[in-house]
Amino acid sequence: MHGFVNPPVVHASTVLFESTDAMKKRKSLPYTYGLRGTPTTKVLEDALSELEGAHDTILVPSGLAAISIPLLAFLGAGDHCLIVDSVYSPTRQFAHGTLERMGVTVEYFDPHVGAGIADLMKPNTKVVFLEAPGSNTFEMMDVRAVCDAAHAGGAVTMLDNTWATPLFFRPLDHGVDLSIHALTKYPGGHSDVMMGSVSANEATFGQLRETQLQIGVNAAPDDTYLVLRGLKTMGVRLERHQASALELASWLEARDDVAEVRHPALASFFDHELYARQFSGSSGLFSFLLSGGFERAAAFLDALEIIGLGYSWGGHESLAVAADLSDRTIAKGPADGTFIRLQVGLEDVADLKADLERGFAALSQLG
Ligand SMILES: *Cc1c(COP(=O)(O)O)cnc(C)c1O
Repeated sequence: MHGFVNPPVVHASTVLFESTDAMKKRKSLPYTYGLRGTPTTKVLEDALSELEGAHDTILVPSGLAAISIPLLAFLGAGDHCLIVDSVYSPTRQFAHGTLERMGVTVEYFDPHVGAGIADLMKPNTKVVFLEAPGSNTFEMMDVRAVCDAAHAGGAVTMLDNTWATPLFFRPLDHGVDLSIHALTKYPGGHSDVMMGSVSANEATFGQLRETQLQIGVNAAPDDTYLVLRGLKTMGVRLERHQASALELASWLEARDDVAEVRHPALASFFDHELYARQFSGSSGLFSFLLSGGFERAAAFLDALEIIGLGYSWGGHESLAVAADLSDRTIAKGPADGTFIRLQVGLEDVADLKADLERGFAALSQLG
């Protein structure tokens, strides 16, 4: 409007109507109340729908809410839900804490199940929940095979697409009904905002939007603006995250003190073929295995000076954490060792290598 490059930020609760008649016919109006959306949230919803090839998108205050709300939308008492075992841990906690309390039975499946998901489907299976690659352990899935079998059994399919962003993977093109993002990660990109989104096909969007509004959550205007701003540079940032992460992954792979590197784009990775067939690029998050007990991982992490210790990822700065796989039942880590998950930020790769060398030096002092 008026030539400004960026959209205005609309702060709103009340929207005024022309007349009582307009109020009665409000269903035909684009905006009726702050909670139901504003021109600001609409711009971000439309951008994400276009990137995902989706019918429409909802925005919610965190990535985790972008997981819980679609699960609540499509599950009720007496239903059965299948979730990939390598799922983001708080998804499992929501399933265990809330879905089971509601009377939903939850079962976990092997990320490599493929068309074999058909054998796990029950007459009451309403949702099959995927994540690719898996959190921390990076298993890849045959998304089309799982979705086709899930649909044949009458279930809705959802995929947490946070790792790849829609620039490197478009789940709806592979048979997924609802694509979930923690916008907190690469779309936000600067570790200063939390938001989530769910982009859905036409068949599932109505039920999703109704549930969002019944629960009463949407995204705040200034947060929405930050994500819109981040989205404009996401492509160039991801190029750098991708290149730096691949360089560090290859460098780590060549070291004797690293037992295994789990990065989907490395040719040596066990699921590389599944990655290459479905994804068009990789982001800045991967894991490597340090053998020995947790004390070795702790010594390594505590010696880092540039790479911070912290949760979340997708920001400009590098982070590391020791992965906790204690809740896994199928996609467990190796018996010996700890996975260190690295979020490779936008810093100079030489500086990051030097920092990792500090970690390895601390390890060699342990003997
Ligand atoms: C971080 C993350 C989320 C949750 O996002 P928040 O905005 O932190 O709630 C969901 N899924 C995956 C895969 C994530 O890594």
